[in-house]
Amino acid sequence: MPKAKVCPGCKTPLEGSARQKCGKCKQTFCTCCYCGYYSLCRKCTAIKHFWETYGREIPKGARVFFRSLEPRVIDAMGRSFPPTMEFFFFVDMEPEANWAHSCVYSFVTVFWEKASSYWCGSEWPPRDTTGFEEIRRPK
Ligand SMILES: [Zn+2]
Ligand SMILES: [Zn+2]
Repeated sequence: MPKAKVCPGCKTPLEGSARQKCGKCKQTFCTCCYCGYYSLCRKCTAIKHFWETYGREIPKGARVFFRSLEPRVIDAMGRSFPPTMEFFFFVDMEPEANWAHSCVYSFVTVFWEKASSYWCGSEWPPRDTTGFEEIRRPK
C-alpha cells in the first residue's frame, strides 16, 4: 500500500477531498493550511501579505529573512487562532553595516481568509537565527 501523503504545513495525512493546491508553491495542503483569499497556502499568503503591506518600506539593499513560528494555537478542527503570530520576518535594512543598525521585526498571521501583521523597528538582530530562509522581493 502506498504511504499516505501528509500535509506539508501541519504533517497530518491528506484525506479524500479535504485538500487544496497552493497556486504559488504548487504543494497540496489540507484545507486548514490553505487560505482561500489568494488561493495560496498560509505560508505563501503570509509572504504575499508581507510584501504587499511593507514592500515600499524596504530599501533595495535590505535582506529579508523568514521563518514559521511554532507552536500555534489550534482548535479542534485544526484551525489556527490569533493572536498567535505564525510567521516571522526579519528585515536587515543595512546588511553591509556592523551592528547595531536599523532592522525590523515583522509578524504575520493568516486567519480564515485574512492576514494581519505587526511591524516593529529595532537595532539588533535576533539571537537565534535557526530556521531562517532568505526571501526575495517578488517580481
Ligand atoms: Zn495542514
Ligand atoms: Zn504555497
